[in-house]
Amino acid sequence: MPVSRAKPDPAPTILRIAVPSPLRRRFDYLLPMTFDGQLKDLLPGIRIRVPFGSRELTGILLEVTDSSDVNTGKLKPAIAILDRKPLIPAHLLELWLWAARYYQHPVGEALHTLLPAALRDKAAAGIKRRKSDLDHEPGDHNDHPDRSDSLSLEQRAACDAINAASGSYGCFLLDGVTGSGKTEIYLQAISHALANATQALVLVPEIGLTPQTLARFRQRFSQHIVVMHSGLTPRQRLNAWLEAADGTADIIIGTRSAIFTPLARPGLIVIDEEHDGSFKQQDGFRYSARDLGVMRARAEAVPVVLGSATPSLESLHNAQTGRYRHLRLTQRPGDVRLPVYRLIDTQPQQLEEGFSAELLQSIRDHITSGQQVLIFINRRGFAPVLQCKDCGWIAECKHCDARMTLHRTPPHLRCHHCERREPVTSCCPSCQGKSLLAMGMGSERSETVLQRHFPDTRIIRVDSDSTGRKHELDTVLTEIALGQPCILVGTQMLAKGHHFPAVTLVAVLDADSGLFSADFRGQEFMAQMLTQVAGRSGRGDAAGEVLIQTRHSTHHSLQTLIHHGYPTLASELLAERQQSGMPPFSVLALLRAEALSARAPEQFLIKARALADDLRKQLLMPDRVTISGPLPAPMEKRANRYRQQLMFRSTQRADLQMLLTRLCEQLEHSADQRKVRWSVDVDPLDMI
Ligand code: ADP
Ligand code: ZN
Ligand code: ZN
Repeated sequence: MPVSRAKPDPAPTILRIAVPSPLRRRFDYLLPMTFDGQLKDLLPGIRIRVPFGSRELTGILLEVTDSSDVNTGKLKPAIAILDRKPLIPAHLLELWLWAARYYQHPVGEALHTLLPAALRDKAAAGIKRRKSDLDHEPGDHNDHPDRSDSLSLEQRAACDAINAASGSYGCFLLDGVTGSGKTEIYLQAISHALANATQALVLVPEIGLTPQTLARFRQRFSQHIVVMHSGLTPRQRLNAWLEAADGTADIIIGTRSAIFTPLARPGLIVIDEEHDGSFKQQDGFRYSARDLGVMRARAEAVPVVLGSATPSLESLHNAQTGRYRHLRLTQRPGDVRLPVYRLIDTQPQQLEEGFSAELLQSIRDHITSGQQVLIFINRRGFAPVLQCKDCGWIAECKHCDARMTLHRTPPHLRCHHCERREPVTSCCPSCQGKSLLAMGMGSERSETVLQRHFPDTRIIRVDSDSTGRKHELDTVLTEIALGQPCILVGTQMLAKGHHFPAVTLVAVLDADSGLFSADFRGQEFMAQMLTQVAGRSGRGDAAGEVLIQTRHSTHHSLQTLIHHGYPTLASELLAERQQSGMPPFSVLALLRAEALSARAPEQFLIKARALADDLRKQLLMPDRVTISGPLPAPMEKRANRYRQQLMFRSTQRADLQMLLTRLCEQLEHSADQRKVRWSVDVDPLDMI
């Protein structure tokens, strides 16, 4: 424009915004044309609608500044300021920005993920809070009365330690055998937090958020409890979030993503079953809610309790090195004894469709004496393999390197990795023979076998096929609680967290899959699973028994576990990790790539490796980060995509972080990245 001015333009106001895009950077905008507010009200954390390409997106304001790397003449004005006050308080915004950097995730996407869906795209309209629709219904019978007067010495010591830390940061590993009264301690600590007019945030594993868990909290507390899990409608979730944020809610119980809920009066964080894999998000923003929980407790100066009967080796290591305080509960309260283990060697004998004669006899004994029995099998469906007896053909998934599982009700073949379904054919597609055999055991088949052996006994199957919906599991748990003799057969849905006082026999049909896993955490997971399942036994007045069927009864880990318990095995496994330099004695990250073509992921990662090698030379002593790969993922093809990975390992987290940050910047601008889907997983849990 030909207008000349005497004075230069005043510096423009620039809004630096985290916009939900896969790009690892912040975006600058000018004030909205219609802006008539005060600049001082534009605080970090408020939501702003912005134009982005041909779309409109909701971003989060990070800072107001007067300079930009981009020519300010090219900046676009934002569309609208959505909030008057930040939805995320400043200290949490800072923590989540740190988390986005730590997990190497684009900042806009990370912040987008942690907002309730109802706040992601809409203008301020929906925000007005409605009266909570979860009403408080105290149960009329109380299975777990307040034990504050009868705590064991160990329980008392744990409670005192946690409560003494209130008002300041402290991380406690509550390491207590199953049924030792950990939940009772959470309840006491929560009660202490509430008495100080603060709020408590409780994280539980996905499988652990049952109506029984909630009933226990509701029976104990008359204060306002809100629940956050994936089954809520966006409206319910928003309500719970706002009630936590404005202080209306006193106790917030939720699964993984509840860790992002702002609290008006933070007082305590509890993470129950801290070893559970569901605390780690496995796609997108791959955070660990447990680890963020500890960081958050530090930022908010509150105590955090990590509870488990089978702590992760990471947390045990932190306790041993003094970073966490180790609180132990070694006994069950009262006369309740820990169950007795027995291994059944299935190598020399003929099994009757998965069951040894010894196991069948034990089940009969327990049922006859009026008890309940729990049979654990780590596989759902009828049989994991369908094979042709004549030519050896096996039903495989066309889209994965995996076999199809045979299901009987209704009959079909299903891939448990991509959920593809196929009809069951009556003859072999390869030789047209008619002898197709179901090989191996799944939960459905175990149910059938048990029904045949115990025609007069109630058999209850619990897996995601039979009890996938929340109310179905609730119905089943209510029936089990009545205490009538029955046989429960099921997958991990049965193994974790439940309190089954009438179960006196727990049997594990096949312990072997975990013993020889390719995953370096395989033995740890196996030991956690077996200990958790075994812990369902003998929680009432009668002593419990645990039978484990295995073809490797002399396996060292199995022997250590049953004779010396989880803590001893865990220290042996830790010593092995130290020798091999694996976590927690080093830190890991995976760079994953996948594509429809088999070559593209490998080509992309070969280039990524070259870039990483260069960066390593420029930035660090080359031996401070080791890089291996690219290698195919353990299951290379899944859901029709080929997958490869590069593994990074270092004893210095800062080195690894610096390298990854620089590498991601470069990869983002590389031409090859369009041919693949790539992602970084820091502290990966699932190596597959
Ligand atoms: P965990 O969470 O470790 O599995 P719980 O807190 O569920 O253990 O306790 C197991 C059972 O023992 C529950 O029925 C609980 O009410 C009971 N219990 C807990 N502490 C005591 C105690 N000090 N005295 C008697 N019973 C207790
Ligand atoms: Zn055949
Ligand atoms: Zn598949």
